[in-house]
Amino acid sequence: MLYEDERDRPERTGKRPETWAARGLGWIDEDSRSFVEPIITGTTYLRDQNYALHKERNYTRDVNPIYERTEAVLRKLENGKEAKLYASGAAATGCVFQALDSGDHVVSPESSYFGTRKWLMEVGVRHGISHTFYRNNDLAALAAAIQPGKTRLVWVESPANPTWEVTDIRAAAKLAHDAGAILAVDNTVPTPVLTRPLDLGADLSVHSATKYLAGHNDVMAGAIVSASDDHPLWVKARDLRWIAGPVLGPFETWLLQRGMRTLFLRVERQCANALAFARHFDGHPKLEAVAYPGLQSHPDHSVASAQMIGGYGGMVSVRVKGGLEGAKRCVAAMRLFFPATSLGGVESLVEHRKIVEGEDSPVPEDLLRLSIGIENVDDLVEDLERGLSAV
Ligand code: PLP
Repeated sequence: MLYEDERDRPERTGKRPETWAARGLGWIDEDSRSFVEPIITGTTYLRDQNYALHKERNYTRDVNPIYERTEAVLRKLENGKEAKLYASGAAATGCVFQALDSGDHVVSPESSYFGTRKWLMEVGVRHGISHTFYRNNDLAALAAAIQPGKTRLVWVESPANPTWEVTDIRAAAKLAHDAGAILAVDNTVPTPVLTRPLDLGADLSVHSATKYLAGHNDVMAGAIVSASDDHPLWVKARDLRWIAGPVLGPFETWLLQRGMRTLFLRVERQCANALAFARHFDGHPKLEAVAYPGLQSHPDHSVASAQMIGGYGGMVSVRVKGGLEGAKRCVAAMRLFFPATSLGGVESLVEHRKIVEGEDSPVPEDLLRLSIGIENVDDLVEDLERGLSAV
């Protein structure tokens, strides 16, 4: 559905993504003349004298003016046909998987947000949805994992948690489509600032909007943008929002759309900080390795350079010498990075993923995941140096 202000006032919307995001597509409230979104808290909407709906709005589990406008911005940034917000990234991912039928097969990366793997291993199998995990940056392994006629969904996360492998989305889309499957990309980490999966042939772009899109560690949200408005799998995932009810809510949507206005500024700063940070620590005597796709030493640097637009993201992982104990000593000595889970906010965070994910996690125990924020990068470098000096 076209956003009516976008149709009516292209000169107010702007022509470029930074402008679309900064101005929320230039929407204004005609009644108050405010260009700041009002929050409509009502859960239900009046019908007219003929008992017809006004603007198709029935009930807020399905529609709310602020959902529509925030979805319009995301849809435009991702160059999609439709977008929907969900209660969290996990809810958005779950709705894609729940759109599958019993007997369907999913191909998904070995390295990914661990909740995505958990869904397939713990929920999917109970509902007759099977899966095969492929090695992230290995297109031959992805091709071998696909079972033509049975695989209905190929999942890509790129760059992927927590070692930031980059998958060639165009190649993955071709492999999926040749086998009659669709391609969904978890675009949480790059955001549409750095990667637009639908332009590369993906069918769905899925987000934990809790991260960079909202950007302030103060709201949990999810989103899916679809290249099609009638693909049966998308229609089911879309309709699951009102059928199953994982809806975002107007206050949370307000925070998300407010955060998205500074998306480009934040991501640009996070990319610059992360690159300088990764370069500083690359080859550090207290580190086994630094994983960042912007480093020439990263195995997927050339794919990342071809696929990502203007930067490599704000996520860096380091492997500390001295194993689990070394990594723990390092975090304990750090003072500036907050030791907390999540990513993509303005404050830098450090995480020991193996401890967060549990014993079964394939993440190496010497790995620390760093979400680089918008602080002065010299302060961030000094903090990890402080941590490493305790190792
Ligand atoms: N996808 C990625 C890449 C994530 O990092 C996360 C959460 O950390 C999720 C999905 C799940 O999102 P949420 O925490 O908003 O449910």
